[in-house]
Amino acid sequence: MRKVVVFSGAGISQESGIPTFRDSADGLWEKYRIEEVATPEGWKADPNKVLEFYDLRWKTYRNCKPNAAHLAFKKLEQKYEVIHLTQNIDDLLEQAGCSDVRHIHGKLTERKCEWHNDILVESEYTCDYVAPQTEMVKMGELCEKCGGQLRPNVVWFGEMVHFDFKSIADLSLKMAQTGGVFICVGTSLQVYPAAGIVPMFSKLKNRYKFIVDKDKINPPDFNMLEGTACEQVPKLVEDLLKKA
Ligand code: NAD
Repeated sequence: MRKVVVFSGAGISQESGIPTFRDSADGLWEKYRIEEVATPEGWKADPNKVLEFYDLRWKTYRNCKPNAAHLAFKKLEQKYEVIHLTQNIDDLLEQAGCSDVRHIHGKLTERKCEWHNDILVESEYTCDYVAPQTEMVKMGELCEKCGGQLRPNVVWFGEMVHFDFKSIADLSLKMAQTGGVFICVGTSLQVYPAAGIVPMFSKLKNRYKFIVDKDKINPPDFNMLEGTACEQVPKLVEDLLKKA
């Protein structure tokens, strides 16, 4: 089966009712400074505020359902091997039934120890506790392995992303030789190192590289499909299924 890599950001979930980072409709991101709620320093200074912020996000996310874009990607699996690299911490791709979803910025449906060894590159953090959660973790809920405070399993600014660049680079080279397809959906490409994934796929054939976004952002040699994820992704998927 031919491979498709889908790299997604907040824009794919916007039509499910989750505001994007930059055009926050509910003002959540305006009420809190990023440094206070999405950095290790913010956590050290005021963990209560951080957990309050994620609890509010959780309350928005838990009622959201997959939209036509998430569901179209499930359909694409009929004829392609589809690998999702998502920056999103929601689980709408999984809810749509997508089988291979890799959360490079973690996920809200998990909690981990504040001393988890995936947090920083060089550090004394040694715990490996991570577990699913059906309610947002609260202050005072402690790691059963080492007694550290639990926190959501999301990647904050300054922490290590959950993916291996080398394996993605190897995959992109292989896909360039075997007619693989790359689709980037709903990301402003401003958060690094994740945004560095797009140029890795520039060697794919021109007709197999797509950017879907409601605003025009056009890295050279990629086909820009301007419009919302729900408008553009189902059409693109139908087209790819016909060509498979
Ligand atoms: P971003 O807010 O910086 O960019 C969103 C992009 O999506 C923009 O280019 C915008 O034009 C586009 N967009 C908005 N609505 C769209 C729609 N309906 N259809 C298609 N495109 C649409 O978000 P980002 O690039 O993902 O990066 C910022 C960070 O914010 C990421 O690390 C991400 O983890 C985090 N974030 C995640 C969620 C989520 O999990 N759903 C929500 C908000 C922010």
